[in-house]
Amino acid sequence: MTGCSADYCTNSSTKGFQMCRFPQDIKRRKLWMDNVNRSDWVPGSSSCLCHVCTGWGKIIGQAFAS
Ligand SMILES: [Zn+2]
Repeated sequence: MTGCSADYCTNSSTKGFQMCRFPQDIKRRKLWMDNVNRSDWVPGSSSCLCHVCTGWGKIIGQAFAS
């Protein structure tokens, strides 16, 4: 089971969300890390974001129904 790495997000593959690994590309990776809103955190090889977090970009503060 894989959960979303975003600090404000509790989506996971077990809840039916599609999970995406962090990209290898440095620029995109940086973009994702900004979305995650975690300072001093580096994504590991198995770190993922759900498709909501990868697709929406600026969703900090969004309420999640589930
Ligand atoms: Zn997420």
